Amino acid sequence: MIHPKLVLIPFLGAAIMAALILAGSAAFAQADPTETARQEMVRTQIAGRDIHDPLVLAAMRNTKRHLFVPEAQQRHAYEDRPLAIGHGQTISQPYIVALMTELVRPRADARVLEIGSGSGYQAAVLAEIVAQVYTIEIIPPLAKWAAERLELAGYTNVSVQHGDGYYGWEEHAPFDAIVVTAAAPHIPPPLIAQLKDGGRMIIPVGSPFRTQQLVLVEKEGDHITTRNMLPVRFVPFTRAVEQTEH
Ligand code: SAH
Repeated sequence: MIHPKLVLIPFLGAAIMAALILAGSAAFAQADPTETARQEMVRTQIAGRDIHDPLVLAAMRNTKRHLFVPEAQQRHAYEDRPLAIGHGQTISQPYIVALMTELVRPRADARVLEIGSGSGYQAAVLAEIVAQVYTIEIIPPLAKWAAERLELAGYTNVSVQHGDGYYGWEEHAPFDAIVVTAAAPHIPPPLIAQLKDGGRMIIPVGSPFRTQQLVLVEKEGDHITTRNMLPVRFVPFTRAVEQTEH
């Protein structure tokens, strides 16, 4: 016969363990109430559409979009739409961020250039996957915002620079991938030049304030191919005043 005390001890142990796990998960849920919203966003808006790259899905699950938007917008952070980030600029709809990320095929050892840091969110999604992200923003307070938010969120593999992204970032070129998040009338030649052989660039091309085409650029040696992927609407790619005067 088994002594009742011997049965009781493992039972108590299991009960204490269960209580600890429950307390732990309750504390976790309290510490990060956005976790569920993020899982749901990926299930319905990202995987539920046509994004299948596991690296991109994991990055979208892990990147805290609410940390990158102004406080007044935080409760909308996981909704299926773009959000205003001030200075007339927007953070893209989560699906578009995921799609652009998937289209450049980011890999763990990649070095990626982003033009248009804005909130810093797209840079953070890329930084979840790749070795190093370089991002350029033309509006000084947004460059500052993006740098601060990325630091607050704990990213150490993103460099933010204020400037006109038309010229890319020569010092760190060539890049495995380039992600442009503002609509340009044409593909800036310096960006093509700074793309690695075999590299990919995604860029919205077209007139500002109209529907543009999301264009995928592939570089194979001297050969450049472009493919229209999807009609989109992005804020305009602007130019530094001194440069547009010439
Ligand atoms: N990737 C951003 C989206 C920001 S919207 C995010 O995840 O939040 C596009 C941004 O591109 C705006 O902040 C705008 O100021 C910036 N931009 C426009 N023209 C630019 C240029 N020539 N160089 C760098 N940034 C530019």
